[in-house]
Parts: sequence; C-alpha cells; structure tokens
Amino acid sequence: MKAAVFHGPNQMDVEEVKKPQITDCEVLVKVAASAICGTDVRIFEGKKTKGVRTPSIIGHETVGSIVEVGEKVEGYQVNDRVGIMPVISCKKCHYCLNGMENVCANRTAIGYEFDGGFAEYIRIPKAAVESENLVKLPDQVTFERAVISEPLACCINGQKKAKVKMGDTVVVIGGGPIGLMHVQLAKIAGAKRVILSELIEHRRERALEAGADIVINPLKESLEETVMTTTAKLGADVVIMAIGVPSLVNSSAKLLKKGGTLNLFAGFTNGELTEIDPNLIHYNEININGTSALTRSDYHNALSFIEAGLINTEILSSFGYTLDTINEAITNVSSGEGMKSIITV
Ligand SMILES: [Zn+2]
Ligand SMILES: [Zn+2]
Repeated sequence: MKAAVFHGPNQMDVEEVKKPQITDCEVLVKVAASAICGTDVRIFEGKKTKGVRTPSIIGHETVGSIVEVGEKVEGYQVNDRVGIMPVISCKKCHYCLNGMENVCANRTAIGYEFDGGFAEYIRIPKAAVESENLVKLPDQVTFERAVISEPLACCINGQKKAKVKMGDTVVVIGGGPIGLMHVQLAKIAGAKRVILSELIEHRRERALEAGADIVINPLKESLEETVMTTTAKLGADVVIMAIGVPSLVNSSAKLLKKGGTLNLFAGFTNGELTEIDPNLIHYNEININGTSALTRSDYHNALSFIEAGLINTEILSSFGYTLDTINEAITNVSSGEGMKSIITV
C-alpha cells in the first residue's frame, strides 16, 4: 500500500509499504481522510518526540471504512464507516480509574506507538477494538466533516478545563483551526463575548465567520487594552492559549479577571521555559491549567456536535491534498497559509 513514512525531522517520504495484516482480534480500516494536526507538524519539525518512532507512519486524526474484521471481533462489520479515537488507555491505572483516561499512565496511541492514518490502510490494534475506539459515523456526516471529530474532542476537553460558562468573556490566543474550534465551542457554551488574537489576516476573517465578536492583530493593537476596555477593566473570565508560545503565557495570564482561568491548550516545544510573575497568580487568585488529548466521551460528544450542525467544519479545513502532496499539506499548516489540511486517500 501507499504510505507517508516519517524517517526523522523534516523527512517524510511517500513509499510503497506492506499492507498491515490483522489478527483475529483486530480490524483493518481503509483510510478515507486524515487531517494534519499541529502535533504532526511539531513531530515533523522534531519538536515533539515522545512516543514517536522512526521509521513509522504518523497521523492520528483519521476516518475510513472497515475492510476486514478479525474472526473474534464483535460489533463491527465490513463497510462500516468509522472514526478512529486514537488514544488507547489501560482502564486500570490511577488516572483511568479517576476519569482521566486521556492522561493514562500506560497510554499508547494510534499515530504514535501504533502506525497512523497517513496511509491507505490502518490496523486497529486489539486494545483499541475492545475499548470501542472505533466509533460508527452517522450516515449524513461526510468523511471530510467527521475527520474534525478528533481535534474538536480535544477542544471540548479544553473548554471543560477552562470552565467556560454562560455570560463569560473568553479570549482565544491564536486563530488556527484549534482557535476557531474554541471560538465556536465557547459560543455554544454561552460566552457573551469572544475576543481572538491572531497575526494572519485570513485567519482573523475566518474567526469572525466562526463567531468571534472581536478580532485583533496583536502587532497593530494591544490585546490587553481591548480586553480591559470591553470588560470595564475587569479582565476576561477565561483565556485559552491555542498556540504554544511560552513567552505569551505571562501576558495571557495578565488578561484575566480575578479568579479567572488560563488554559494552556496548545503543546509547547520540549524544554522551552518561560518566566511568569507568581504574584499574578497569588493576588488575583487565577487558575492556570492544561489540556492533553481527549477521552472517548469527548470524541462521541464532538461527533454529535458535528452531526447536529453546531460546528462549521468548512472554515476550519483546507481541502485538496492527497498522500502524494502530504509535505505541502504539512508546510501549509506550519506557515499558517492554510487551515487544517485534510488529506483524502
Ligand atoms: Zn491532533
Ligand atoms: Zn490507564
């Protein structure tokens, strides 16, 4: 089969590799669409290495159709259209037992420890089949829309951590696909005002279309001033960092009202540190937390939001890529020229 094989930083080659063989307890999925995640870009650029093998096939945002089902597998059939929830948790560790399967101590994932979706076929390992990480897609949801379920599920997890609630003023730093998902979800959660900060013009325009009330170019306007004037000098209830720039953490915390929450949603480059004024946290009683990956419940919720027509997936996506043009698809995400690149296989 054809696959994009990751050999190391900045080296991804489209090659002919062996089609995966499944055991009695596994399922083989023919990939219909895979999306490029910001994390894939960080892996490609060598900025994320945890769980990444070389050579391997990465890609963890994938949907497709089942083409082979192991003899002992129950509940799935050939031709079922499915979304793949990539995180495989152990169900036994302290975190799994306490409702945090997304950060399972023994966690593995498709697209990391197991080969992922930048290929024609993908093998779904036994543990993933047994925990129903394959989620059947509603008939009316196209593959191109369904492939947004995985990142949207991570954003739903983030919104919960950020505690967005009715009437809030929410600031989103970064207007890439993830930032625009946060804009839409904050509106669904009842935020009265969403302010988004983004350098790239086409992304600011899309953010307005996604429902942001105010968008600013931080090179031309002060985000802090905008937040303070629109909140009667109180500050925002919630700030979500949808870009992993460590030097922006302190200035993001300064946008909050007392008792507000800053969520570090995006991942950061390994080993990069930043300074933060501890008195901001102390005197203002603000909360700073993070978000990592998704639970199976988040995935089901995300898919149901898409099915219900609550999410504009089109403005988040850039179409027209195939496995052969995957390098271009990655570069366009990294440069911000495109939105989320969708690879159709
Ligand atoms: Zn992702
Ligand atoms: Zn676990």
